[in-house]
Amino acid sequence: MNVLVINSGSSSIKYQLLDPDSADVVASGVVQRIGEPVAEGSPSIEHKSAGRTFEHDGAVPDHATGLKLVFDLFAESGHDLAEAGLRAVGHRVVHGGEIFYEPTLVTDEVIRAIAELSTLAPLHNPANVVGIESARELLPGVPQVAVFDTAFFHGLPAAAKTYAIDAKVAAEYGVRRYGFHGTSHEYVSGQVADFLGRDRTELNQIVLHLGNGASASAVRGGKAVDTTMGLTPLEGLVMGTRSGDLDPGIIFHLIREAGMGVDEVDNLLNRESGIKGVSGVNDFRELGRLIGTGDAAAKLAFDVYIHRLRRYIGAYLVELGRVDAITFTAGVGENDAAVRAAALAGLERYGIRVDEARNTAKDRSARYISPKGAEVAVLVVPTNEELAIARAAVRLVG
Ligand code: ADP
Repeated sequence: MNVLVINSGSSSIKYQLLDPDSADVVASGVVQRIGEPVAEGSPSIEHKSAGRTFEHDGAVPDHATGLKLVFDLFAESGHDLAEAGLRAVGHRVVHGGEIFYEPTLVTDEVIRAIAELSTLAPLHNPANVVGIESARELLPGVPQVAVFDTAFFHGLPAAAKTYAIDAKVAAEYGVRRYGFHGTSHEYVSGQVADFLGRDRTELNQIVLHLGNGASASAVRGGKAVDTTMGLTPLEGLVMGTRSGDLDPGIIFHLIREAGMGVDEVDNLLNRESGIKGVSGVNDFRELGRLIGTGDAAAKLAFDVYIHRLRRYIGAYLVELGRVDAITFTAGVGENDAAVRAAALAGLERYGIRVDEARNTAKDRSARYISPKGAEVAVLVVPTNEELAIARAAVRLVG
């Protein structure tokens, strides 16, 4: 019996119907540009099932309509979800705040609490709530489970999760480091232990989740002890369109000198910064192509990205003291050999080496990119947040 996993974002819904035991994906798809006009030549919904693609071209005004259309496409492709006997629906929820740090069965009260946490994740939690409510309406009787992106970092040591600001202000407004991408960091660090044939409690790991959003974590004995994202997913590494760390004084400067409003600065730092801000493009394939043509801004964006990444790798080496494995995952981490090579260049004296042939091999499975016998295992491990969410949901509902 299958699980439907729903990742409802601010203007998109990604979903998968999968078997949590075998990891087989029965169907998957994405709803894009919710609330936006139709884009010529690009369908608003793409649904893949049994090697076929089903499309919807009309505009999708809101999330509830999007999900309803997805259910129609499921039926059209031969999987009527209402009849399929789903074991559960698993929802990715971005912010669990201080309240949620385990997969949680959805009730009215849970939905209210997730909605209240929108103050901490104004773009994400409201969309998550709509996804949950719509799925409940369309699939009454199927247990709905919320899995939180912050959960894996709930137990961060106080020194790692505390911002050095007035303690009363911090407490009153929930200002602390929560961390995100937790489902991926937890899943990948578990896959690493399996791959190495070791128990996760024996391993010190650095996990580099480099996708459009990017974060690093330090994991000691299976528990996260540090991560780069903070109160929001804006802190830490340079990302596709997000700045990552910067001097908070920049914000005051822009408000005072450029006359920007809060929303403008928010938009600048979340959507117009990072690789895109420096180079004009946010996709690493395009960035690589531009670097190949001698584009100086693209090269600078790459260098800034790597500089920040190496700074955190260094920090986590020191924090962990001994590192057994460094793992690259997500879109950039799994596919971009140049990023991987640059991130770890010149660290031989720390036992960290990348083998060029292994690094550039066209292989999509979990694998070593460090040479045989290297002191630190350097790995590429595909992440699979949907599978992790489906398994968490099934563990909860039995
Ligand atoms: P998200 O954070 O949205 O889940 P992903 O983990 O799917 O994103 O990563 C998407 C990013 O991965 C793309 O924006 C692109 O920069 C990068 N990417 C995907 N494929 C490749 C590739 N073959 N080479 C380099 N970068 C890639």
